[in-house]
Amino acid sequence: MKKPLETVRRRAKRLRCAFCRKDDRTVTKLVGGPTVYICEACVGLCNRILADESVAGCARLTDADLLDTLPASGVALEASREVLRTQVDLLRERKVSWAAIGGALGISRQAAWDRFS
Ligand SMILES: [Zn+2]
Repeated sequence: MKKPLETVRRRAKRLRCAFCRKDDRTVTKLVGGPTVYICEACVGLCNRILADESVAGCARLTDADLLDTLPASGVALEASREVLRTQVDLLRERKVSWAAIGGALGISRQAAWDRFS
């Protein structure tokens, strides 16, 4: 059976992650490239894969090369800390409990409070 033209048009306009095929209604963010998009979940997966390879790759680097890469790692770490802090601040503004935040991070309510309050 043929789909109504309007349905086809609506589907064609949806932006989709090129990796998992989820559309812009079901993901929080889509990052666009010249002709493709990637969602935040797939970016996270890619980061984990790259981090695993990075650990293995670091062991092969010379001391000088490791020292050269430290500044970039420090910048990335600070950026991640800022994102984490922003997320926790938003959750607290929305009255989400320290227990829930700690649970999501795999730490106790008290540890979450100590770290972020
Ligand atoms: Zn995706």
